[in-house]
Amino acid sequence: MKALICGAGIAGVTLAWHLERVGWEVELVERAAAFRDGGYMIDFYGPGQQVARRMGLMPRLLDVRHPVREIRYVDRHGRRTSGLTLPSGLDDVLSLLRGDLARAISAEVRAPITYGTSVESFDQHADGVSVRLTDGTSRAADLLVGADGARSRVRELAFGDVAPRFLGHHVAAFTLRDARLSAQIGTRYQMLTEPGVMAGAYALGDDRLSLLFLRRDPDPALPEDPAAALRRGFGERGWILPDVLARCPGPPELYYDLVTQVEMERWHEGRVVLVGDACQAVSLFAGQGASMAMAGAWVLVDELTAGGDLPGALGRYQERMAPGIAEVQDSGRRFIAWMAPSHRWRIAVRDLMLRLAALPGAGRLFVNSLSPGGHRLISGRSHVLESVRED
Ligand SMILES: Cc1cc2nc3c(=O)[nH]c(=O)nc-3n(C[C@H](O)[C@H](O)[C@H](O)COP(=O)(O)OP(=O)(O)OC[C@H]3O[C@@H](n4cnc5c(N)ncnc54)[C@H](O)[C@@H]3O)c2cc1C
Repeated sequence: MKALICGAGIAGVTLAWHLERVGWEVELVERAAAFRDGGYMIDFYGPGQQVARRMGLMPRLLDVRHPVREIRYVDRHGRRTSGLTLPSGLDDVLSLLRGDLARAISAEVRAPITYGTSVESFDQHADGVSVRLTDGTSRAADLLVGADGARSRVRELAFGDVAPRFLGHHVAAFTLRDARLSAQIGTRYQMLTEPGVMAGAYALGDDRLSLLFLRRDPDPALPEDPAAALRRGFGERGWILPDVLARCPGPPELYYDLVTQVEMERWHEGRVVLVGDACQAVSLFAGQGASMAMAGAWVLVDELTAGGDLPGALGRYQERMAPGIAEVQDSGRRFIAWMAPSHRWRIAVRDLMLRLAALPGAGRLFVNSLSPGGHRLISGRSHVLESVRED
């Protein structure tokens, strides 16, 4: 059996890893010109971490993790307004750069990846799918997989225009090398929040800072010049922001996108199937997209190898994943008001909660409340976790 996977992100390389180990021939095509490094910090836990453990990736991930021991909210002068020292025992949450997770998985994938290429079109027939690529070549496969993210091209070709649910925010991230600012920020996750905006910084330990920007904006149009839009939205807000934004790179080093979720009735059509953000994006508000992408890839291979016909396997894959994804998407939407407070009173309530969380024993409860879906997943009451439970 042969699979052509469009998109070499977290979902795509995890799927390739598993398929080639059960004897499939696999090929990936990736739109980016080269491997996408760096990116933004993610918290990695729950089902994806269970899949990573099965893949034997944990030693490598523990090597590249960035321990966050404190969350600190600051004002425009960089003064601490509230915060929380994270309790020990949260070691099950790994903070990683997205690129480091993708690299750890890709390092063990033998399938060829053709960069700078995408799917142009495809035709399905009784015993296969013929795919034309944007480089003018063609491929024949038994299964075409769209692992090409929330703006999936394969999804568009297979299902037409499926508009992701826009959550009313724009998000941006980049890394910057600066020894002085890195020493100032340290391995504390520092954030400035004002109504409708959030900017966060974390030092990666090698003079690099990881920066994240979140801004409420009802306009679902991407700006023509994302770096200029960031400077307009954040450049006058003090702290380290004027300094870092003066050196803000353009895309692709600057990640800039809308915050969206993808909800679909069907994740497969004939010999075409979607995996990861392409069919189940949960958004950064839910904070588990990479974990869920790995879980989805694992469940898909589990069903493809369970026997029976292809449509049955693809249907069971969706049935196993979809309820848990809906649950995580819902918790993500409920979290928006706390991660990006739109009113001063919410910021005041959050600061009060943080002061209460400093009381003995309350820290873990608070962290769980910051990530409502995550708590359920870690404690094993989620449909998705059930799907990837250790044998
Ligand atoms: C700021 C931010 C913070 C986040 N925090 C967390 C977190 O804390 N925890 C967590 O688990 N998740 C988090 N996520 C979500 C997580 O990054 C995504 O859910 C995850 O990367 C999805 O993996 P994917 O492989 O489906 O999609 P992607 O990572 O988007 O990969 C898709 C791949 O397909 C390629 N591609 C796109 N279009 C095409 C095309 N037409 N042809 C060929 N290739 C194409 C892309 O270049 C990319 O390599 C966060 C996301 C953001 C933006």
